[in-house]
Amino acid sequence: MKYDIIIGLEIHAELKTASKMFCSCPNSSGMIQNSATCPICLGHPGTLPVPNKRAIELNILVGLAHNCEINLFSKFDRKNYFYPDLPKGYQISQYNLPFAHHGKINLDGNDILITRIHLEEDTGKSFHPKNSNYTLIDFNRAGAPLLELVTEPTIRSAEEAKKFCQNYQRILRYLGASNADLEKGEMRCEANISVQEVGTWKYENGQILPIGSKKLNHKVEVKNINSFRAVEKAINFEINRQSQELDNGQKIIAETRGFDDSKNITVSQRVKESAADYRYFPEPDIPPIRIDDQWLAKIREELIELPEDKKNRLMSTYALKKEIADQLVDDQKLVNFAEEVFSHLEKAKKINLAPNAAGWIVSELLKNLNSTGTKIGDAKINPEKFSELIIIINEGKITSNIGQEVLSKMLATDMGAKEIIKESGLEIISDNEAIDKIAKKIISQFPSQVAEYKGGKLPLMAFFLGKVMAATAGKADPKITKEILENNLK
Ligand SMILES: [Zn+2]
Repeated sequence: MKYDIIIGLEIHAELKTASKMFCSCPNSSGMIQNSATCPICLGHPGTLPVPNKRAIELNILVGLAHNCEINLFSKFDRKNYFYPDLPKGYQISQYNLPFAHHGKINLDGNDILITRIHLEEDTGKSFHPKNSNYTLIDFNRAGAPLLELVTEPTIRSAEEAKKFCQNYQRILRYLGASNADLEKGEMRCEANISVQEVGTWKYENGQILPIGSKKLNHKVEVKNINSFRAVEKAINFEINRQSQELDNGQKIIAETRGFDDSKNITVSQRVKESAADYRYFPEPDIPPIRIDDQWLAKIREELIELPEDKKNRLMSTYALKKEIADQLVDDQKLVNFAEEVFSHLEKAKKINLAPNAAGWIVSELLKNLNSTGTKIGDAKINPEKFSELIIIINEGKITSNIGQEVLSKMLATDMGAKEIIKESGLEIISDNEAIDKIAKKIISQFPSQVAEYKGGKLPLMAFFLGKVMAATAGKADPKITKEILENNLK
């Protein structure tokens, strides 16, 4: 490897509070344009912003979840710039005293360092109607609470960056801080990417510095990343592009590039002339904020088991495979369902079936729910009934294929597995005589296949097995059936 990869992330997330950051307007999308506005979020002169207490609590909570230090004395600052969707001419943000800073989170054994997590207000949204030469602005989003997380430039691969973003989304959802849907813009990722020749740089106090007289290559900022897949693709594209430029003796231009999802490339948007001077200064209309021990303790009480910890516990307690545990924790309601299934299995002294049950949840159950567009919370199956189904399949009372059929019926009817099996006569046929009779009949019906099989074409066994299964509507015990067929075809 000739180059080291250096990645830092900036992630904005819309907080799920009832009202906006500094006024009492509703904080909800989907309202008629410009209806959720007031003189404060429209930036009228003389209005006074009042910080949203819940947004501060969520900031601190997310900070605690990332093992951050919390600034018990914090303040808001003005970040001054002009843009049409920013009516005040400045954004209220946090500069040198963010609520949370210096955190870290462990992902699959690697620590990712967090620089800061702070609060700010969102801007309005511009629209450019098709075939028009004008722009419309919706201020419903202006002043909505926005959480910004910045990582240290210590991420070393596109895969790790993607993993971090996924985990961050899970944490925000588990804590009820944000829906964090990338496609809806509720979570927006930006990546700073540079490649440096091995041995030319060092990481010190949160900065990438050159060693001795070496020169560093510029970093590139990538925006328009609207999915986790895009996080990985955009970063990998940049790593390749920058490495090739350097290999060709070119210099990397410090610029902002946008990811084009349809072409899987990044495109230059603007070149950075110099660092923007936002002339930050303390927001004079909001007094500094002190967080006392009591308030902090109350926020800390909201910390629940985080997705990554839950994943590790599920793997070690129930011997789940990493991929399956990962799929489960991705959806808080689904993993809660799974844990209840496990506790029913435990009561039935069948906890060894947990990996099996987990496999059924992420494959068959999810497949069924997705096909009808049902959420796990609304499904007509409870963990107890689901655990019964798993036990019945495991006891060999029905085949796995019939189990899938029973599960669909359970989801459609609210009935239990035993009831469905009894009512529809789905119980496995393990009666040797009955299967033998069917096998003999089928063998008599296909003399040429029998001759071929006896002549050495052994894969034809699958053909005979299939015929018996069809004749018994899939209820014949596959193991017994195979033995009986082999005996009859000797
Ligand atoms: Zn307002």
